[in-house]
Amino acid sequence: MDKLKIAIQKSGRLYEDSIKLLKDCSIEVNIGIDKLKTTALNFPLEILFLRDDDIPQYLEDGVADIGIIGKNVLLEKRKKIKIKETLGFGKCRLSIAVPKSLVYNDIKDLNGKRIATSYPFLVKEFFEKRYINAEIHEISGAVEIAPGIGLADCICDLVSSGSTLFMNGLKEVETVLQSEAILASHLYLGMPQNLIMDKLLFRIRAVKKAKNNKYILLNVPNNRLKKIISYLPGVKSTVILPLANSEWSSVHSVVNENNFWGIIENLKALGVQDILVLPIEKIIL
Ligand code: ATP
Ligand code: ZN
Repeated sequence: MDKLKIAIQKSGRLYEDSIKLLKDCSIEVNIGIDKLKTTALNFPLEILFLRDDDIPQYLEDGVADIGIIGKNVLLEKRKKIKIKETLGFGKCRLSIAVPKSLVYNDIKDLNGKRIATSYPFLVKEFFEKRYINAEIHEISGAVEIAPGIGLADCICDLVSSGSTLFMNGLKEVETVLQSEAILASHLYLGMPQNLIMDKLLFRIRAVKKAKNNKYILLNVPNNRLKKIISYLPGVKSTVILPLANSEWSSVHSVVNENNFWGIIENLKALGVQDILVLPIEKIIL
C-alpha cells in the first residue's frame, strides 16, 4: 500500500476542522455517501472516518498510520502512539464543576465527593497528585446532568464556553487539562508512509504559520520610516516601496496575530495611514 492512512472523526466537533485542515493543505477529498473511508484525489492519502475514542487504538495497532484526536482523548487512552503536531483547533478544557449552590473554597472541598466523568484516568491522576480522595463514577455521555439526578456530587467534563455547565446549574472550579486537536501517529511507520507523513507535516506547518500571521500594507511618512519599521519584524525584513507622492512610502510586512493590535496601535500613534490587513494562505520558509 503506497498511501498514508489518516483517521479522522466521523462526525462531531473535530470533523469539520479536520477536513478543512486537509483542504488548507491543498488536499482534495471527495466524501462518499457511506463515509467509512475515502481516498484523496491529489495526494497519497487514504482517509478513515472513525469515532474519536477509537482512533488511539487504531493508531497503536497500525490500522491507521496517523490520526487527528483531542489531546484529552490521547492522554485518557494512554496508547503507545506518537504526538507529531498540535493543530490549533478543537480547543477546550477538561474541568471539574460543582453545583452553583455548593460553597467551594479549594480543591480539598472535593474530598469524599462522588464525581461523574468520561475521563476516569485523567481525573484519578489529577486527584492522586493533590491527595484528594474522591469516588470516580465513569459514565459515557451527558455527564453534566449527573448531579441533577443524584448520580454524583460533581462532574469532570470538557468545557469551551461554559454555557452547558451554566444551563445545568453548575460552576467550573478546577481545570484538569487544556486540550486541542493533535496529529498523532503509529510508533513505527515504514516507507513510503514516513515520507508522505513528512510531506503532510510540512504543509500543515506552513498552514499553521500562515494562520498565526497577517500580511499588512501601510502608508508611512518618509520622515518617520526608520522608527516605524523598527516595529515591524517581517519574515526576513520589511518591504519598502516608493509612492507617487515622494513624501510617503508603502510598507509591507508580516505581523504575528498575538501582538497584532499592540503593533497597530503603536503604528497609528506614529502617523501611519491606510492600513490594509490581509490573511495569508501559507508561509513556506
Ligand atoms: P464520537 O462520536 O466521535 O465519539 P464525541 O461525542 O465523543 O464523538 P465530540 O463531542 O464531537 O466527541 O468532541 C470531539 C472532541 O472535540 C473532544 O474530544 C475534544 O477534544 C474536542 N472539543 C472541543 N470543544 C469541545 C467541547 N466544548 N465539548 C466537547 N468536546 C470538545
Ligand atoms: Zn468520542
